[in-house]
Amino acid sequence: MENKIGKCPICGEKSSLIPSNNPLVAPVCLECLNKNVKIDDLEEVNIFCRTFNLPFDPDLWLKMRKEFQQKVFKEYASFFFDEKNNTYKDTDRNL
Ligand SMILES: [Zn+2]
Repeated sequence: MENKIGKCPICGEKSSLIPSNNPLVAPVCLECLNKNVKIDDLEEVNIFCRTFNLPFDPDLWLKMRKEFQQKVFKEYASFFFDEKNNTYKDTDRNL
């Protein structure tokens, strides 16, 4: 997935941003996600997924968590991101 570089609304740093699939939520940087969401707390991960409008798949999360460590947010978001259409594939929007 192409890294979108922009200004993170939380820390104000120019950084690679995790795209949000929710028009009301601005993309934020990986560091801020790691600071604000406990990656081993599935309750918090669930909230993150809802906030970013991503499907919540705990098994997939745990698998990616092991593999990608702190980068799990980016990889997980990328997994559901359709690069061709520049949008997420599967959401709970029921199109
Ligand atoms: Zn940030």
